[in-house]
Amino acid sequence: MSIKLSQIMQAVEIVAPPKIAEDWDNVGLQVGSRKQAIHRILLTLDITTAVVNEAVSKNVDLIIAHHPFIFKGLKTLSSDTVKGAMIEELIKNDIAVYVAHTNMDKGVAGLNDYLAKRMGLDKIRTLEPSNPTIYYKLVVYSPVEYTAKLIDVFGKNGAGSIGDYDYCTYRSSGIGTFRPLTGANPFSGKINTLSSAAEDRIESIIPEQELKNLILQLKRSHPYEEMAYDVIPLENGQLINEVGLGKIGVLSHPMEAAMFITHVKETLGLSVLRGAGAAPEIIRRVAICSGAGADMIGLAKSKRADVLITGDLKHHDGQRALENNFWVLDAGHYGTEKWVVDCFKNILAEHLGIECPEIMVAESSQDFIMNY
Ligand SMILES: [Zn+2]
Repeated sequence: MSIKLSQIMQAVEIVAPPKIAEDWDNVGLQVGSRKQAIHRILLTLDITTAVVNEAVSKNVDLIIAHHPFIFKGLKTLSSDTVKGAMIEELIKNDIAVYVAHTNMDKGVAGLNDYLAKRMGLDKIRTLEPSNPTIYYKLVVYSPVEYTAKLIDVFGKNGAGSIGDYDYCTYRSSGIGTFRPLTGANPFSGKINTLSSAAEDRIESIIPEQELKNLILQLKRSHPYEEMAYDVIPLENGQLINEVGLGKIGVLSHPMEAAMFITHVKETLGLSVLRGAGAAPEIIRRVAICSGAGADMIGLAKSKRADVLITGDLKHHDGQRALENNFWVLDAGHYGTEKWVVDCFKNILAEHLGIECPEIMVAESSQDFIMNY
């Protein structure tokens, strides 16, 4: 079975929209065309020469990677360079490359959500909500017979998305009064006569970037010449926003530190687990940040985490943890991010269903750091 690459991108971007990627990042389609037909996909954390060779030998049409293949500006495509030779090999074999990186880290149901669930955490929240979204409450007054239609417009245009729910609106009924003046073309009522109509007050939340479009779409569907509406800024936008780095949640069964170390090693498939700082007796509240998240030590502590699990811990990160009387575990950059292939697999299966092309996981993707 084959589908267009653009459909695969759409599926990934439901969970990892490119607009939430960090500014310094480079995500999206890096080699190939959106129009390309895809029969077989290879999933990987990194794209190395070995992974490109594996893609060629396995006859795949698309590599989906977490770490950007093309990150900084290329000065040459010469095949005498390692990168140039890889690009040449990919193009010769019609293999496209698509990358979802910090957008996959930060997506509400992205890599960190996957890790938090894998660790058995409940009540999962975002550790560092970013791209702070400003939310508004939009209130529109509608003749009762148009209420259902307008609620549909609210929902279709992104209003009322809260957690696992969308189309969240509230309505109350009342009487609206108005007087159409000379020159008006009223939906109901008479010119120069005080009129009234049974109306619903429909209200819903909407992120700032969607507000203008929603008002425009509502005006198009609203029967009145002048749609009456209120735009109210909300203080709790940050709370609604769950896009961002890292997750924090609670273990349904709190554990002693020694047991928790075993739990992390087993859950993440690690032979080695480094750590620093002071381990509390009982671990209940756990923060996790894939890749290099030692910067989150202060934030995790302020959010009352008993431990932060991340990768790439340096000497002075360990010192900081100790000085802050906080416990941090280093499960490795690879150890926390190798799971991205499972994450991609789940997303593609869920959003493409029976249209999903054959998926393979790169066997040649590896941890560059060795424990001897
Ligand atoms: Zn990484």
